[in-house]
Amino acid sequence: MQNKKTYHILGAGVAGLMCARFIKKKDKEANVVLYEASNHLGGRCFSYEDEELGCRVDNATHVILGGNRCACALVGLKKLPYKTYFWNVKKDTLSRRAYNYRKHILKSMCNTKPEDVPQSLIKTIFWRLFPWSKKSLGVYFSKQDLSQRLINPQQIYPDEIHYNCKILQIESDGVRICRLYSNQGIIELKRDDIVISALDAAAYSRLFGTDKFDFNSIINVYFKTSQTIHLPRNVSYMGIVDGIADWVFVNDGIVSFSISDAESKDINLKTLPQDLWKQFDTLRGVNSAFLPPHRLLVHKMATIRQDAFNNAKRPESAFGGYLNLFLAGDWTMKNWPCCLEAAILSARRAVNTALKAQEKNF
Ligand SMILES: Cc1cc2nc3c(=O)[nH]c(=O)nc-3n(C[C@H](O)[C@H](O)[C@H](O)COP(=O)(O)OP(=O)(O)OC[C@H]3O[C@@H](n4cnc5c(N)ncnc54)[C@H](O)[C@@H]3O)c2cc1C
Repeated sequence: MQNKKTYHILGAGVAGLMCARFIKKKDKEANVVLYEASNHLGGRCFSYEDEELGCRVDNATHVILGGNRCACALVGLKKLPYKTYFWNVKKDTLSRRAYNYRKHILKSMCNTKPEDVPQSLIKTIFWRLFPWSKKSLGVYFSKQDLSQRLINPQQIYPDEIHYNCKILQIESDGVRICRLYSNQGIIELKRDDIVISALDAAAYSRLFGTDKFDFNSIINVYFKTSQTIHLPRNVSYMGIVDGIADWVFVNDGIVSFSISDAESKDINLKTLPQDLWKQFDTLRGVNSAFLPPHRLLVHKMATIRQDAFNNAKRPESAFGGYLNLFLAGDWTMKNWPCCLEAAILSARRAVNTALKAQEKNF
């Protein structure tokens, strides 16, 4: 009888979970073990019960473009029509001319100053992600259901999930990783065991002692409203140009605002909810009597800064420098914006590379 191969996956974000899924699709007999430092699945992408707001909210607003084919297929999206309006706060105009606001879109997609995004990354967006073709037209934004739609369905793939299990150190014989040290004990690896790092960029560079990345933050503010709020033109989301936030999304009693590359704006966190709501009142032409209950979420290290300097540090392939180490995670896909699609593609690449390498090396 052939020995079951064990895959040790570090990190249970989208990339880690998708690695488990792709492995099981290729090798049903494989033993897949996930190690996750936190107490939840999904990494930067999950939803939770917010006691103060009294409802479920996403930890971060996630937008999926029709061109994000893997992500769309995964969550079985019914695409919304691609009707993006932009409200220019200074001019107080509404426009659908997305081309005029390409810098605004680029900043949001890369969470980086648009002028700093390298051409190689813009090329990927242009050809692979942006919904130019009719087929890929459509935009989906999460409706406080990231965990139910995207994360929870993946739980069936790993054989074991170790929560609150932080990998602290690795040990190698110079060629292969042979031991993992975690806060829950030592994990001895067999000679043909595979390790896939699906860690975020900061955890990866800490664990493997590689070059550190710079990060940019994203701020999300969620308001719970008792009445359904309507945006002009009856759309469910809108770009905000020259305003405090970059985007506003309205659905099921939640109005959420998103601010990318937040450190580049002069933001006072204390007054941010009031300031946002006041600006939102202007858009709707109303004068709210009170501020709805809200939740402010600051993601200081939302994504790596996607400028030329940091893009150059991203790996060229999924090979991790040891015979049995392979890399996944949104940041590992050089020239790709750090997004769900990149995380899924990185998982597919890591698993395919691992399987091919096994045929050669073991
Ligand atoms: C505020 C915000 C808004 C976003 N908006 C969008 C959007 O609109 N559209 C879009 O497509 N994408 C968006 N993204 C990006 C998207 O969330 C990420 O690209 C994706 O979730 C990355 O998944 P990942 O698995 O590569 O990394 P992570 O989700 O970071 O997963 C890494 C996992 O490793 C775990 N870990 C870390 N250290 C250790 C350790 N030592 N041992 C064990 N486990 C460890 C972490 O706890 C985590 O679970 C957004 C992200 C944020 C933060």
